[in-house]
Amino acid sequence: MSKRKPLIAGNWKMNLDKLTGKKLVEDLANANIDYKKVDVLVAPSSILIQPALCSLSKIKNSIIVAAQNISHEEKGAFTGETSAAMVAASGAKYTLIGHSERRQLYVDTDQLINLKVKKALEHNLSVILCVGETLWDREASAAVETVLAQVGKGLKDIKSLTKIVLAYEPVWAIGTGVTASPKDAQNMHKAIREYVAKIRGKAVADKLRILYGGSVTPINAKELLSQKDIDGALVGGASLKSEDFLKIINFDKK
Ligand code: PEP
Repeated sequence: MSKRKPLIAGNWKMNLDKLTGKKLVEDLANANIDYKKVDVLVAPSSILIQPALCSLSKIKNSIIVAAQNISHEEKGAFTGETSAAMVAASGAKYTLIGHSERRQLYVDTDQLINLKVKKALEHNLSVILCVGETLWDREASAAVETVLAQVGKGLKDIKSLTKIVLAYEPVWAIGTGVTASPKDAQNMHKAIREYVAKIRGKAVADKLRILYGGSVTPINAKELLSQKDIDGALVGGASLKSEDFLKIINFDKK
């Protein structure tokens, strides 16, 4: 078991609406969660952040609300974009950056991702920086090299990592029902931590939370989350049903 407090994060992607999102956060907020042992986060689409926070404010809980993406620009003529300032003003405390769907479908390059990380930090948002190799990279034995390059470029010139969480999400495991084996996931997390230790020092690396994402379910969560360097999960599909998400949050119970 790792020394770091686990973070279980749910990425709703472009799913749920005001009513179903409300029901989900209310179910989570009303559930028995030991927040001393685990941090819980939900990332609705930006338009659902305020309704989610409003529902959560009526029930005692410590659930964190995050955006799924921000613009790297401060403000201006960028139709369809949401700024870090807007996300922060809406009450969200975190943002995901560099999710593989952003990288693949919206061409978020490592350079753009690095600008987004900087912009988020400027506005006091914590960041879950997502990295992960494609199947092609893995089959070409380039998985570690690819992921470490994404980490290095994403964190370029970021002075402090205290508001950064990394999420290792192999692209071939996202939404596919195929999960990295606990051993393969642990090996990658260890490689990431060793790399961060090399570029930022061991003390920083030891404190850094590295989540695993890619078809995490109530069935596989415990084994994945018991690995030494896996400090939580970024969950897509299974975060949309409170029953499943709560089983993952409570992976350590029983
Ligand atoms: C994700 O969207 O980050 C993700 C890991 O999705 P899923 O859990 O559905 O694979």
